[in-house]
Amino acid sequence: MFKIKLYITCIIIFSILTGCSRPVFSQSELVFGTLCTITLYNRGRARVYQNIFEQLREIDRRMSATMYGSDVDRINKAAGLEAVKVHDDVFEVIERALFYAELSGGAFDPTVGPLVSLWDIGGENSVVPAQEEINGILPLVNWRDLELDREGKTVFLKKPGMAINLGAIAKGYAADEVALVIKKARINRGIIDLGGNILFVGAREDAGPWRVGIQNPLDHRGAYIGIVQVYEQTVVTSGVYERYFIVDDLQYHHILDPSDGYPVQNNLLSVTVIGDTTKGGTSMDADALSTAAFVLGYEQGKALIESMDAMEAIFVFKDMSIRLSQGLNFTLTDENYRIVVEAF
Ligand code: ADP
Ligand code: MG
Repeated sequence: MFKIKLYITCIIIFSILTGCSRPVFSQSELVFGTLCTITLYNRGRARVYQNIFEQLREIDRRMSATMYGSDVDRINKAAGLEAVKVHDDVFEVIERALFYAELSGGAFDPTVGPLVSLWDIGGENSVVPAQEEINGILPLVNWRDLELDREGKTVFLKKPGMAINLGAIAKGYAADEVALVIKKARINRGIIDLGGNILFVGAREDAGPWRVGIQNPLDHRGAYIGIVQVYEQTVVTSGVYERYFIVDDLQYHHILDPSDGYPVQNNLLSVTVIGDTTKGGTSMDADALSTAAFVLGYEQGKALIESMDAMEAIFVFKDMSIRLSQGLNFTLTDENYRIVVEAF
């Protein structure tokens, strides 16, 4: 409800501003089921925003698992039956998702679709599924049963009942695409925020760093534990707080462990991945990596991040300790948390 009100307010503000044909500082719309905000400062012409949001809605229309007729929907409905021809962008994202599935030993798995549907976390009537239901579904979650044909740009799920879900990577891809639109419009500065998946384009006007608050996973939205200073970088977080429900004091959140079918239970609250776009780090990669590192847990997640040149990370633990890459400029602002120095 709150999101819808906010959305309407944004539309009204937008209409007033465009009515005056003055540049629009920033614009927000609901896409990917989340609030997406683009900030172009004094270069924000209405037409550029229109292009950007049209592009975002197009990506959503292709990659959504729930939208009737999306490429993902068509792939899932043809599971066990036939290969499906998809748009180039969908193919690219699935190919990258498979890359991360392999790299993470299956911790990141785009074929989690049946588990996502079963748990329906964030849905209306979420209940903890029976163990037999989970057992029945687990054999359907396996990225090795997802076949790509690079020539024909087709995707095939080998077993009936399989389903892909690109929720852990699509927003990152979309952010990279928006950055291209912004650069093409010769705008040299902007912030792309797709429901917390953030990408900074260009330098700040004063050439100083952008400052990003890292969400306090245990507090209300907007409360942060500290500030990270970045330049042309992308900042993406996966955490227990984004979507969840609670039964008998146990929290069931939306990042699922493909090995046992349950929401990941480890000592982490969130993983933030920071990718340097000047070193080739993309928001798509940071998005996939934040989910992968969360599922893998600290030791293996850290090793994965370390293996990637352009990527750094902040791990927030349930005991309120924080471990982070050496190269980051992070200032703790919430004294309930503490930084543990452990070089990586
Ligand atoms: P957010 O959607 O909040 O940005 P993530 O990027 O971590 O967070 O993506 C979580 C979503 O990805 C889930 O809602 C689900 O659709 C999907 N997902 C859940 N577990 C996995 C997993 N192990 N591998 C790949 N995708 C997953
Ligand atoms: Mg992700």
